[in-house]
Amino acid sequence: MHLRLKSGDDDMEMKFWNAATKAISPYVAGEQPKTRCIKLNTNENPYPPSSACEDVLRSVDVESLRKYPDPTSAKLREAVAGVCGVETEMVFTGNGSDEVLAFAFRAFFDEQTMIAFADITYSFYPVYAKSLGIPYSLIAVRDDLSIDVERYIAFKGGVIIANPNAPTGILTDTTDIRRIVEADPDRLVIVDEAYIDFGGESAAFMTKEYDNLLVVQTVSKSRALAGIRVGYAIGNSALIKALERVRDTINSYTVDSVAQAVAAAALKDDEWFEVNRGKIIASRKSLTEKLAEMGFETLPSAANFVFTTKRDVDARMLYEELKKKGILIRYFDLPRIDGYLRITVGTPEENEALCDALSVLVPASRKA
Ligand code: PMP
Repeated sequence: MHLRLKSGDDDMEMKFWNAATKAISPYVAGEQPKTRCIKLNTNENPYPPSSACEDVLRSVDVESLRKYPDPTSAKLREAVAGVCGVETEMVFTGNGSDEVLAFAFRAFFDEQTMIAFADITYSFYPVYAKSLGIPYSLIAVRDDLSIDVERYIAFKGGVIIANPNAPTGILTDTTDIRRIVEADPDRLVIVDEAYIDFGGESAAFMTKEYDNLLVVQTVSKSRALAGIRVGYAIGNSALIKALERVRDTINSYTVDSVAQAVAAAALKDDEWFEVNRGKIIASRKSLTEKLAEMGFETLPSAANFVFTTKRDVDARMLYEELKKKGILIRYFDLPRIDGYLRITVGTPEENEALCDALSVLVPASRKA
């Protein structure tokens, strides 16, 4: 018996780790608590997915699970193509848009190919870049925390923009996305549209005009399917081929057969989609208004979350006090945004519980 590893003994723990693994600073996801709470911390949809998803799950032929899934996700890609108005060859699917983004970093950038993204944006981008040795440049958001379009136009190298941006929720107009794409046909522009359905116009239609644009979307948010892990990219077929090449060096079957069928059914249910996003957009408006009544300033959000601040109040303390009351939201202890709270738009009842709790805390949490 040679078992000498004990947890807590760092040197022993890292005995078999290579240098790259030791150097990783991993992405930290929002908590997924085991106990019941009001969960407004990871931008999940507060409503169940389309009933078409349940129909698919109930009709799963368990015997069929002995076989590998379709590695090309043909039916799912057709469903995405239908929604986005593109050819099936212009669609790549993956295990959540996080995986699609990770493959894109691998496929299109390396030590020689620089990428830029905002200083305040999705915190997975620097994790991908660092882990692959890709040099990256941070483009500061403007004072109002919006994307500084002119600086993306001027940048010589690839860029990735979350649109709407996270965690601010601020939208960049497709006219500006087009200007960034057109500024240099020799560099790739990736637009991460995880939240686009809650208030923005997708740039997906432009992938038919430009071969240097890749749009990434997900069923996690606006289709209420974060649990099945399906994301996709839309772009010129040459970009899609590159993503397939990368996938096929790692795992050819990244999207399982059940997930393919469930996601395809959800994407085809237009009626559910319109009703659901309508409810979330309406709740976002009323949540923003209630926050304003309490003296919070909320950035204009086109997403299913709001980013809000109250000048004389300690945001971290609000986050911690809400947590004690069983209400989870997100706080980022980072320069420029450490005064803000990111709150996922919940059901009207959840939003009300949040606002009730905040209204008790706000006067008590004023800094001296
Ligand atoms: N992009 C952004 C900006 C996100 O906030 C998220 C969710 N954390 C993702 C991509 C990934 O979403 P998923 O992997 O669930 O598709």
